[in-house]
Amino acid sequence: MENCIFCKIIKREIPSTIVYEDEKVLAFNDIQPVAPIHVLIVPKQHIESVKKLTEKNASILMDIHLAANKIAEKLGISDKGYRLINNCGPDAGQTVLHLHYHLLGGKDLGPKII
Ligand code: 5GP
Ligand code: ZN
Repeated sequence: MENCIFCKIIKREIPSTIVYEDEKVLAFNDIQPVAPIHVLIVPKQHIESVKKLTEKNASILMDIHLAANKIAEKLGISDKGYRLINNCGPDAGQTVLHLHYHLLGGKDLGPKII
């Protein structure tokens, strides 16, 4: 998708620090981290948000969760744990309209998500 920041990162048109890649998923460090580990996990296929998931494309969620599992293992936070967050739509503060999950960890994140 033209003018999509994450599509440009996927195509290597914008630099990023990539921490994981497979056939369907790319994961890279957030440019403005809010935790010691703050990785964005995105599908290589442009899907705008959770709202645009259908029975045809929703299997990407499995790929994203399996990627999260591997990334946490690779970054050494698998045992301590981590938080996976998705923002969908304006009230949730979604700023990039390409489906993404925030993987946060590396410290005690507290009991609440807001
Ligand atoms: P949202 O608020 O849409 O859930 O999250 C978008 C995230 O993308 C934000 O945490 C923001 O810091 C990150 N972000 C925006 N532009 C870039 C970029 O060009 N590179 C990287 N690595 N992260 C970005
Ligand atoms: Zn995109």
